[in-house]
Amino acid sequence: MKDLTRSKDLFEKAQHVIPGGVNSPVRAFKAVGGNPIFVKSAKGAYMYDEDNNRYIELINSWGPMILGHGNELIEAAVAEALKSSLSFGAPTAKEVEMAELICSMVPSIEKVRMVNSGTEATMSAIRVARGYTGRDKIIKFEGCYHGHGDSFLIAAGSGAATMGTPNSPGVTKGTAKDTLTAPFNDLKALKDLVEKNKGEVAALIVEPVAGNMGCVLPESNYLQGLRDICDKEGIVLIFDEVMTGFRLSKAGAQGIFGVKPDLTTLGKIIGGGMPVGAYGGKKEIMDYVSPQGPVYQAGTLSGNPIAMSAGLAILTYLNEHPEVYTQIESSGKYLAEQLALANSAIGKNYTINQLGSMISVFFTEQPVTDFESAKSSDTAMFGKYFQGMLQEGIYLPPAQFESWFLSTALSTTDLEDIIAAHKKVLNNLLSQ
Ligand code: PMP
Repeated sequence: MKDLTRSKDLFEKAQHVIPGGVNSPVRAFKAVGGNPIFVKSAKGAYMYDEDNNRYIELINSWGPMILGHGNELIEAAVAEALKSSLSFGAPTAKEVEMAELICSMVPSIEKVRMVNSGTEATMSAIRVARGYTGRDKIIKFEGCYHGHGDSFLIAAGSGAATMGTPNSPGVTKGTAKDTLTAPFNDLKALKDLVEKNKGEVAALIVEPVAGNMGCVLPESNYLQGLRDICDKEGIVLIFDEVMTGFRLSKAGAQGIFGVKPDLTTLGKIIGGGMPVGAYGGKKEIMDYVSPQGPVYQAGTLSGNPIAMSAGLAILTYLNEHPEVYTQIESSGKYLAEQLALANSAIGKNYTINQLGSMISVFFTEQPVTDFESAKSSDTAMFGKYFQGMLQEGIYLPPAQFESWFLSTALSTTDLEDIIAAHKKVLNNLLSQ
């Protein structure tokens, strides 16, 4: 067993002064049991905890570290920016460069506003969609997570699902009634919902490839189906690409599926590890944002020069190195294939969903296409699997309803180590 003395002591102390001992719920390992790991440092594909145990990283800060930890280009850009002050709260050349780069990488984005997190991006995007359409209601999908804005904590995925609070107390009935929900991958159910609320729906927000109920792919033509419904009904289509943006391709999921949303929300990779988010899209809609238009949205630290420098460094690299996507796509495919082979060798056809560098293993043999089917996974088994993998030095997201995120820093040997650990852990669990 790994020595976790320091992590245990820190968690004990943390619980006295931080709710649940953590600054974001899933980090507490509540769903998987055991003591959370307190991290000291990370480099490349490896993370080190306070007790100096080493782990192969499959969270990567929940997505941002697509190039692995301690990337020299990003760190040099940040170090250079530090010389010119940490923040101005005034326009900078870097913000213009950043906006131009985002618009060139994601063609559906004609104008973009920088914010400080994915949550801010989605909250702002629905506000502008409401302002633009003059309608109040929004539609989201069961099991999708769009940050912790009140309107989104309805049938929410990720930590909200993991903690058993998909509908959070503290969200007023008034707010909740304006959020309608539909099952993912079901156009018929969506059409019925839109029909019942004709002329009242401002926006439809979706993770084009869901990562927050575990990784769940859109069925063929599903995203186009959403586009068609929105066009017909005058609804603003928002792709929440906080996870998928710059991860599945340099134009995100929309670059792969060839469907253009009206608005896109971004986060994670866009900041290279710094707290950054953005929302952008059609000029006609974005021009509703203040001071051009009447929809208010602001931020003291928005467009922060240090964060912009990190973001510019990573996006420039991704823009100029398409081989990043070929490499992690093939790592993702290989890993998914090998895990599936290992499963069938022990007579278990557990469902593995994968696209590019996003993967989830579900402990169910039925296809996982929406939140209902994701919930058929044996989460108790996942907890034991997670603990087993941790002992083998593999750091997975500590919850079933999350996606693993690969980075380019993973070597072939790292992939083989993950596969070997998977086999060992499953064999142990099934022979108990
Ligand atoms: N949207 C999606 C799709 C996400 O995955 C997340 C975070 N995991 C968010 C929004 C919220 O982003 P943040 O945690 O930066 O507020």
